[in-house]
Amino acid sequence: MNLTLEKRRKVLSSSLSLSYTKPLHVVRGRGQFLYDKNGIEYLDGVNNIQHVGHAHPKISTAAYKQLQILNTNTRYLDQHVLDYAERLLKKLPSKLNVCFFTNSGSESNDLALRLARTYTQSSDTIVLEGAYHGHTESLINVSPYKYKGPGGFTPPQYIHEIPMPDIKRGIYRGSSAEERYLKTLSNKIDLIKSQGKKPIFIFESFMGCGGQLPLPERFLKRGHKLIQQSCGISIADEIQTGFGRLGSHYWAFEFFDIEPDIVTLGKSMGNGFPLSAVITTREIANRFDNGMEYFNSFGGNAVSSVVGDTVLKIIAEEGLQENAKDVGKYLKRQLLELKYKNPIIGDIRGEGLFLGVEIVDLKKDKISLPILASNIIDKMRDKCILLSIDGPKKNIIKIKPPLPFNKENADFLVENFYKVLLGL
Ligand code: PMP
Repeated sequence: MNLTLEKRRKVLSSSLSLSYTKPLHVVRGRGQFLYDKNGIEYLDGVNNIQHVGHAHPKISTAAYKQLQILNTNTRYLDQHVLDYAERLLKKLPSKLNVCFFTNSGSESNDLALRLARTYTQSSDTIVLEGAYHGHTESLINVSPYKYKGPGGFTPPQYIHEIPMPDIKRGIYRGSSAEERYLKTLSNKIDLIKSQGKKPIFIFESFMGCGGQLPLPERFLKRGHKLIQQSCGISIADEIQTGFGRLGSHYWAFEFFDIEPDIVTLGKSMGNGFPLSAVITTREIANRFDNGMEYFNSFGGNAVSSVVGDTVLKIIAEEGLQENAKDVGKYLKRQLLELKYKNPIIGDIRGEGLFLGVEIVDLKKDKISLPILASNIIDKMRDKCILLSIDGPKKNIIKIKPPLPFNKENADFLVENFYKVLLGL
């Protein structure tokens, strides 16, 4: 009997899920590796939160030092948060020049919706099928990934869902697909406008839980423009994709050459420390300052700011964005080769160290099989490589490791992936 598992079942909610059929009990981490209680080393191919690597010594030192000096609430003048905000804003388009610091991705997206709704005086929000934006009530409502899944419900009427714009597997495919997806977006915008309201559009430029799917370029570029022309608000959720993970760009929205009105950050921002942010324009932030005080006990306190600042420094000092570009390209090329050797792989998608491998059911001609995908990640776990699955059909194997992941790690992952696929 596994006593830790028993205890978890006793003291934690059973709705908190565990990865793998045989759950993993990790006790230590370093760089791109995790270690179990027997000292077995696992190559971490999936923890995008520990962006600069598990237990990075510069982060623990910075947090420890600041904890010994001061960590109080955010109603005092404090230099740390200002220096950090300044450095963070330098990474974003100049129109995005006001930060709100928060403590989780969900909190950021919830605040982003409040900002957008206060600005537009409208709640009408357009969401992409398959999207996930967080676990609070307001965010389950904008997350078809949740409200359409087990235990789901019909979202409020002010939520306008459009199909996932997947030109290979979605409801529209082929050369006219992008235009047709765009039409679903413009129809929703028109509907909202016809009721005298302004649209809010929340999206990830590369969908994470949606299966590591880049949005089609024209869809997002044109769609974003239509939102702007309607005096609406676009919210780019960069919680999974930000901070250089995609290699060639620091933020996923930069791939599409758009400037969203609000950007939300989280996960990697504190490398596991609860730190997140909402970044917006002065105009939107001022409209939110309507007399109701915004107070956040922890968001942007001195320790969080020092940790966030250290993450930014490590990304730069260790060349992690360039590494994501380089190693990501190398890994993607190898996965594409594997795809040609093994038709069970239907597609390789993503950029940098944010990749997805689609598993298809050969017998049923490209109908995916989630059980097969979950078998694969269980077998990879047995080979000491950690991956996960997602996407609307739960058949996309996700690869999003800590950014120190190197070419040797990529070789090890692909070699073992090949063996696992052969053994199916
Ligand atoms: N947005 C996206 C795209 C996410 O992937 C997640 C978490 N998986 C969230 C928001 C919510 O973040 P958190 O779990 O920190 O609340």
